Amino acid sequence: MKKWLIAAVCLFLACGLAACARCGGEHAFTAENKCGVCGTEWDYTEGLSYAENADDTYTVSGISFERQESRVVLPYGHDGKAVTAVGEEAFTGRVEMTAAVLPQSVVRIGTNAFSNCVNLAEIEIPTSVARIGAYAFYRCGALTVRYAGTVEQWNAIKKGENWNASADGLRVECTDGSIAQDGTVTKN
Ligand SMILES: [Zn+2]
Repeated sequence: MKKWLIAAVCLFLACGLAACARCGGEHAFTAENKCGVCGTEWDYTEGLSYAENADDTYTVSGISFERQESRVVLPYGHDGKAVTAVGEEAFTGRVEMTAAVLPQSVVRIGTNAFSNCVNLAEIEIPTSVARIGAYAFYRCGALTVRYAGTVEQWNAIKKGENWNASADGLRVECTDGSIAQDGTVTKN
């Protein structure tokens, strides 16, 4: 759905119903990739591949090499089941990628998930993420992480060794401050 159409529909709903106001700009997306409150659709990237997990969820395992997507948006769900992880080496070396968006359903970013994505300039990481694997952002020197939580929440995420090694320009922008690659925190 086109963005202007979503905006128009939301404006209509906001005027006519309480539904959109209940989202307060934060939709409650489900594994069907729709907001359970107002029905707005989550617009994600096609061509992703998936691996089923033992707990009845999915891991995004990569994206077709025929798709040279600069901006990759992961879905909340696949086949009606939640997408909870970015798999090991899922996007490693995808130099065409400049931006990535992870949904609030994701709890784990795998080992080497985005390593050597040297042109990745921006990734949106939700507060649902609890674990970032080793070498996940290795050599992502151009990367700004846009984290939806606080510096304290970011620091509570379990991180594997060298998760941000050889990525001197990597910054994590939190709601109350930012963290440089060497761990220096600048509060807002
Ligand atoms: Zn909504």
